[in-house]
Amino acid sequence: MMRFEPPSRREYIRDQKMRQGRRVFGVFPAQYPKEILWALNILPVEIWDPPVKTTRADAHLQPYICSVVRSGLELVLQGKCDDLDGFLFPHTCDSIQNLASIVNDYLGIEKPCYFFYHPKAHYGPSSRAYYLEQLRNFASTLGKRWGAVEPEELERSVSQGQQTASLVREAYDLRAAGTLGATNEEFYGVIRQGEFLHPDDFLPLMRNFLETSKGRSGSGSPVILSGVLPNPPELLRLLDELHVRVVEDDLLNCSRRLIVPPVSAADPFEVLTEQYFLMPPCSTREGSIQARLEYLFEKVERSGAKGVIFWIVKFCEPELFGVPQLVEEIKKKGLATLVLDSELHQGPSGQIRTRIEAFVEMMS
Ligand code: SF4
Repeated sequence: MMRFEPPSRREYIRDQKMRQGRRVFGVFPAQYPKEILWALNILPVEIWDPPVKTTRADAHLQPYICSVVRSGLELVLQGKCDDLDGFLFPHTCDSIQNLASIVNDYLGIEKPCYFFYHPKAHYGPSSRAYYLEQLRNFASTLGKRWGAVEPEELERSVSQGQQTASLVREAYDLRAAGTLGATNEEFYGVIRQGEFLHPDDFLPLMRNFLETSKGRSGSGSPVILSGVLPNPPELLRLLDELHVRVVEDDLLNCSRRLIVPPVSAADPFEVLTEQYFLMPPCSTREGSIQARLEYLFEKVERSGAKGVIFWIVKFCEPELFGVPQLVEEIKKKGLATLVLDSELHQGPSGQIRTRIEAFVEMMS
């Protein structure tokens, strides 16, 4: 059994509703102001890669839609979201927009659906004003149904968000420095519990993880993982088996939204705005290829990574768009690269395993 095995989501949700009196929202990828939900005593439970067999969603989606959207829709259609009190769809990409429209407009699901729109244009002063307004509108829209956001509650939530970011950052720093004794599977097993645990539970988990894992990382080839999310889990297991150490990542559901620098301001909405614009570059937000390259090279520099694995979810348009250019520039620096794409929960095939083994040999 893995250290820090996550609790069952179903039981955790039930417990949160019964014992804590919290409402629970299903939140689709990727970035959203979770602090506003916490302040309203709403628990966001993120839906990235539910382990469901897709049977019904195919009737609603084109064959070239990614499996993040496909499995999320399947979860809704199979009635596995019936316990939830609402849904939130951040405007991450066209596929999530499409999903939002199917769930909200066509399925006749009687649950409130909310939307959160990020600035998509090149960042400038107007984007900041726009984002700040989006935050306030989001809080006021939610407030109409779930009660007004109390300033003290929002301040508390923002503070918990910052403590979470600080602990996650520490885990990333230790790992990059080779002083975190955790396997790839353990590391992501813990970090990803933040996708559904309330900070009251996630903060102690992170502290415990850090306290018990400080030490020397195992030896092995250091790599950076880039893409959307560390799925299938078998990939991490395979990397552990081959003594490949993920020392950094550029994953949409991990460092690209979790590594937020500390910010202070009197108004919590200003803090959230400031934090948003300090997030790492991302293919789903403003993030030029040049900015992403610089970000990746910084990671290489601080971790001593010898290669980058682009593990892409099949049909993920925002990610696939930049990969050829990123690969070309990374190779020019003498680093090994490997590009793989697969569906969620599709364990590495024999062919993929062989390619990963060849990549490891190339690095050493
Ligand atoms: S995997 Fe890519 S296309 Fe699919 S929801 Fe995520 S960002 Fe959008």
